Amino acid sequence: MAGFRSLARQVRDPRNDLALRRYSLRKCLERFAPYGHRATWDHLCSRAGFDPEDRSPEPARLTAALDELEEARAVWLAYETQFAERRRKEKHDGLRRPGTVDDWHRLTWGGFGVAWCDDPMVHPSEPLAEVLNRLIAALEREPGTACPVCTGTALRWEHDLAHEPSSGPVCTHCGIVVPRPVLTPASLAGAWRARVLVSA
Ligand SMILES: [Zn+2]
Repeated sequence: MAGFRSLARQVRDPRNDLALRRYSLRKCLERFAPYGHRATWDHLCSRAGFDPEDRSPEPARLTAALDELEEARAVWLAYETQFAERRRKEKHDGLRRPGTVDDWHRLTWGGFGVAWCDDPMVHPSEPLAEVLNRLIAALEREPGTACPVCTGTALRWEHDLAHEPSSGPVCTHCGIVVPRPVLTPASLAGAWRARVLVSA
């Protein structure tokens, strides 16, 4: 299975035909896609200015989309390296952390679905790297009461998400599943109360 970097080279290589370059970019999203594959694709296409269904977008637009993705990936991998290093030190010092942060990291290691958007058409519109920086800042401070990306406070618990964990608090404004460790117990409870109840 080709890695992210070799796929990225395929996207940039002008000797490849456009269909292969586009396909390689989509394959990159199987390795790294903060919103999940479909939502991240939708996001990159709209930012770079081509239609998600366009089979032969302008090469410059394709590489612009790849640039954005790579920048975000660099932000996330740097954070993971730092996180792993900190954990190693804490273990060495015999410190224990609440399980939720570690549990969350286990599910998102590598950056796939860190800000899962279950509806591929509803996702934040800021550059991906900026979104990840906001998410990281939230993971590194005390839990709060708002969405770490758009600061919206209308959170609603949703079930049957197409990603693990399969249920969680969703920001009704920007569409991300908010990582549980960044929310206070009261906010989590509020999102739960706002869940959509299906009558029997
Ligand atoms: Zn939000």
